[in-house]
Amino acid sequence: MTYAAQIYHPKAIFRPRALGILKGMDTPQDFDKIALLSLAFPGLAETDLQEMSSLTRLSAYPAGHILCQEGAYEDVFYILAAGSAVISKTISPQEGERVLRVAGRGDLIGEMALVQNAPRSATVRAASDCTVLEMNKRDFEAMLGRSPSMALDIIRTTVNRMRENDQTAIQYLQNTNKVLRQLDRNKLEFIQVAAHELRTPLTVVKGYVDLLRNYKGLPADPALGGIMEGILKGADRMHEVVNTMLDVSRIDSETLKVNPAPLPLKRVIQDTVQDFSEAAAARRITLTPELDPATPQINGDPILIQKALAQLIVNAIKYTPDGGTVTISSRALTLENGTPAVQVSVRDTGIGLDAEHHELVFEKFYQVGDVKIHSSGRTTFKGGGPGLGLAIVRGVARAHGGKAWVESPGHDEVNFPGSTFHLLLPVDPPRA
Ligand code: ADP
Repeated sequence: MTYAAQIYHPKAIFRPRALGILKGMDTPQDFDKIALLSLAFPGLAETDLQEMSSLTRLSAYPAGHILCQEGAYEDVFYILAAGSAVISKTISPQEGERVLRVAGRGDLIGEMALVQNAPRSATVRAASDCTVLEMNKRDFEAMLGRSPSMALDIIRTTVNRMRENDQTAIQYLQNTNKVLRQLDRNKLEFIQVAAHELRTPLTVVKGYVDLLRNYKGLPADPALGGIMEGILKGADRMHEVVNTMLDVSRIDSETLKVNPAPLPLKRVIQDTVQDFSEAAAARRITLTPELDPATPQINGDPILIQKALAQLIVNAIKYTPDGGTVTISSRALTLENGTPAVQVSVRDTGIGLDAEHHELVFEKFYQVGDVKIHSSGRTTFKGGGPGLGLAIVRGVARAHGGKAWVESPGHDEVNFPGSTFHLLLPVDPPRA
């Protein structure tokens, strides 16, 4: 017994016992192609079915055989007569393949690539021994040209298939989203627990060092004073990081409360600049406030806004080489909906930031470059941080009904193109 499959496809094995559809038949010639074709194309006229039948051939393939290879230009389409085939698509090199669906009797396979003249968009692999009706691209196209009803039917089937694929993709995305949200919640809980757990022993350390400083029995040794200052400085820095972790967890859980008060923004900016003048001078960085006299007073949370401004200035100093300049400007503006607002911009002459990171840097824990090569220190050049500062800046902006974003021509540690971080705050925050 010689079958087309064995001639055209050396790997194919025809095993009638495995193929229920051939039960009771001795040869593939007995196979009722018309019944299968009318299942695949329910709207097709008898004459079209007859013509199509004459252009198809019956083939059999063993489990595991690849009928369509994703990315390949192939010129056959199939109608599954018996068995099942798995249709899968490569999502990414990391995620590998994802099963889109399992095709069964009467399903069309590979017709989309032929209609679009495109490479296969998915891989189809026989899940069990399969029998298929095959048709060549040229015959398929000739038939489509001759039979408008078949062309319509194919379009309908293809559109339905795309809709089903969309549904599957949406479902997959929804599930992935759910998992990601849960992971994010776990991370948030971990930050909260870690911050609370660290805060108590830190307070104890600071308390004891304070006690020690005032301890009368301590020998008057200037070296001891220096050591205790060092411990206190370290503990203060740790306290700051712990507080930043708590702030971020509040922003994430949307429990960040804005306690608005009339705020002379120019004064707050000047004070914050003053706070960093020593650190900037140590690195020969010039801090220049350029505050438009018309910058209005706003209603905002003084603590939160001061935190956001400090973060932007710290970053500008941190990512600017020694001898650079950081300019802090403010101006009044009116938003599109007529709301009065203030824009604060912190411009530096630092390393700059590539466009692909412009949004991501505002995500918590996001850092550009290799964290391991960072040096430590709050304002040392490219000094390490927890990657939470800009998440807080954006959180504070949003809590006030404003926004935060960055502009930069790109990262360049030879020409130092710089970055400008903007903080936009409405004069009045929206009511809770
Ligand atoms: P951290 O500074 O603690 O790493 P941030 O959230 O403040 O975290 O910043 C996230 C990342 O954004 C930083 O790791 C840095 O790569 C980039 N970045 C922030 N500010 C600047 C700046 N002024 N210039 C260049 N890159 C910056």
